[in-house]
Amino acid sequence: MATTTNKDYYATLGVKKTASAEEIRKAFRKAARKYHPDVNPGDKKAEERFKEISEANDILSDEKKRKVYDQLGFYSDQIDPAQAEAYAHQQSGGGGVPVDFGGFDFSGFQSGPGQHASQQAGAGSSSWGSFKDIFSGIFTGAQHPSRPHGPQPGTDLEYQATVDFWAAIRGGQARIQIHRQETCPTCHGMAQTGGPMPCPECNGTGQVTQMGGRMKFNIPCPRCNGTGRTTNDCGTCHGEGTVSRTETVEFRIKAGTRDGQRIRLQGKGNAGMNGGAPGDLFVIVRTGTHPVFTRVGDDIHLSVPVTIAEASLGSKVEVPTIDGRAQLKIPPGTQSGQKLRMRERGVESANHAGQRGDQIVTVDVVVPTLNDERSREIMRELAKLNNQDPRVALFDKL
Ligand SMILES: [Zn+2]
Ligand SMILES: [Zn+2]
Repeated sequence: MATTTNKDYYATLGVKKTASAEEIRKAFRKAARKYHPDVNPGDKKAEERFKEISEANDILSDEKKRKVYDQLGFYSDQIDPAQAEAYAHQQSGGGGVPVDFGGFDFSGFQSGPGQHASQQAGAGSSSWGSFKDIFSGIFTGAQHPSRPHGPQPGTDLEYQATVDFWAAIRGGQARIQIHRQETCPTCHGMAQTGGPMPCPECNGTGQVTQMGGRMKFNIPCPRCNGTGRTTNDCGTCHGEGTVSRTETVEFRIKAGTRDGQRIRLQGKGNAGMNGGAPGDLFVIVRTGTHPVFTRVGDDIHLSVPVTIAEASLGSKVEVPTIDGRAQLKIPPGTQSGQKLRMRERGVESANHAGQRGDQIVTVDVVVPTLNDERSREIMRELAKLNNQDPRVALFDKL
């Protein structure tokens, strides 16, 4: 015989079984004043107790409910007093035959995930807290957490890819290794294999029987949600519909692609479920570096060494550009560190057709090492002729 822990509402309110409606009312008001959450803020025990006495009062203060409770030892909206009486009659008759309440229509009630029904009458009944728990579970339980059946779009992926300095400027192909969720090759994303088959929990009936005391209750099978049919999770993807895969993705780099630019590769993200569209792959381009050129947006920066003669007298020097050698005019009297702009010698814009960045040359005046007396003589002569003190301005500011 299965054990149940029916609640003793009379004990909860501290009244006798023969208590009058007035006695019950008074007992409840007294207890409620003591345990009301407003009087005991934050006190979990008091809150629990308040719920218990409220529940007890709810049943015992209602004549009809109290009658059912008195007969059965629990209360359910599904059972009217006449049935309760009939049941009690059978009990007192000593029949001991379980009353089958299977005729009650419990459909429309979802069993909560915690209320895992036992298939065989009697088995596992001891796990029930109380009848009230069973019913509250059936009536208010959360939806069975079933997998959504409609198409589910795949999620997007984002990866960074460093591309070669020249590939970013001139355009080209690049590749990247990614991990993505791919449609399961076994179940083709359906997460299940084979067609629906009879639910093993309820043997395809869609109902399971619950024992409570001597009574049996038929409730919708929690495994198949009362449908009686269930499907097998795919063994390859374990019911996910997708499998994780490492993949090399090749993509095109547009000429002039800048550092930080995002490239969208449609459909290369994670696979969808149940025929849902795959997500996209976003590649954030990191442009590679170069030993001579430094790229800033569409401009190219570089440092060019020049001699004292070239800088002071002015000259035309050959400098490297991303297109090859080019002539740069050094104006007379150019100082070291001065920046000279070479218009439209930079990178062709990826976003604005026909536009190009500039090349910005930083002049780096190289001081010669004088190894012969003739050169030193000339330098001393030069110093005599040009005897300005370059530090005058420095001291003027002090
Ligand atoms: Zn089932
Ligand atoms: Zn699969």
